[in-house]
Amino acid sequence: LALAYVFQGQLSVKYTSPTAVEPVARENATFFSLVRNSELPGMLQSIKSVEERFNNKHHYHWIFANNEPFTEDFKTAVSAMCSGTVEFSLIPPAYWDYPEWIDQAQAAEVRRQMARKGIKYGDNESYRHMCRFFSGLFYKLDALRPFRYYWRVEPNVEFRCNIAYDPFEVMRTQEKVYGFTLTPLELHTTVTTLWNATQEYMHQYPDRVAANNNMAFLTDDEGQSFNMCHFWSNFEIGDLDFFRSETYTHFFDYMDRKGGIFYERWGDAPLHTIAVSMLLPYTKLQYFAGTGYYHAPNLQCDGPNWLQEQNECICFAADDFAWSGASCLTKFFDIHQLERPEAAPTTPS
Ligand code: GDP
Ligand code: MN
Repeated sequence: LALAYVFQGQLSVKYTSPTAVEPVARENATFFSLVRNSELPGMLQSIKSVEERFNNKHHYHWIFANNEPFTEDFKTAVSAMCSGTVEFSLIPPAYWDYPEWIDQAQAAEVRRQMARKGIKYGDNESYRHMCRFFSGLFYKLDALRPFRYYWRVEPNVEFRCNIAYDPFEVMRTQEKVYGFTLTPLELHTTVTTLWNATQEYMHQYPDRVAANNNMAFLTDDEGQSFNMCHFWSNFEIGDLDFFRSETYTHFFDYMDRKGGIFYERWGDAPLHTIAVSMLLPYTKLQYFAGTGYYHAPNLQCDGPNWLQEQNECICFAADDFAWSGASCLTKFFDIHQLERPEAAPTTPS
């Protein structure tokens, strides 16, 4: 395996692909995975699925980021599995640290309390750094700078249907900013004051709130409380120009100052969701149907039988979470009076 190294400012390393990258038309886009060395098997499994179901026809670039250096074994194995060029990015320590206004003793105390209450990841410090990184920092990495769109992929996810179109092309041609698949409910114990902070922001900066926005998606009582609906960010396709914009970074900086990422456990999923729902018209948001996306415990398995057959889906529509009663997707389509994609089966009442 011949490897060509290109060192960039933040120690990201570019490898040539083990297979020649065919000169096919591609968007200005990349896959993006934050991952630990210990997650190598799960990462390879995700790559295998993405490649088989989509990328073997496109050969998009793939950026792997880590707060610790990747091992040679990790880099070699991942490079062999990707059909496009790959790049390894070492996250600068400042992107994986406490901002100076956070009282770390208070944050540690919160973690102990949340652990006693049995809240998932409640006592996990690195999880919060991960959430902050995805909320406000990943898009600043040197490795992402040349790109307009990213598609986030985690270890241990699957696409159980062929993706016969290019979602990146949909993003560009239809001028979409944020693409999603699954829309579950957040654990309310992790976002106790998030809605208050959101309301405060909207009152303080009414001019920043977009017309025809998606805020109705996030509340069932006309804004009094957060209904916990969010775009599940382990899958997301985003326009980096939006995340890098003053519009987004102003919102992130405000939320970051509130400290809820560390004093509670605000996740990047609700933060991204609130941002794209408040700062953009809803027409900038795109539901990608029929991908067969799976991240435990939720599966997207929508679409008419003929399309599932055509796309060689390996899933049962009966196991679809996307349009189920526990999901917020129906609400998204209803509030905007959108026609449901053909890929949608009828929702159980
Ligand atoms: P969950 O989906 O909320 O249960 O969280 P995950 O454990 O899947 O973490 C979300 C993403 O961040 C995954 O891509 C993980 O591989 C990655 N991740 C989480 N914690 C760390 C960490 O400490 N270091 C690195 N490099 N990646 C992490
Ligand atoms: Mn995950």
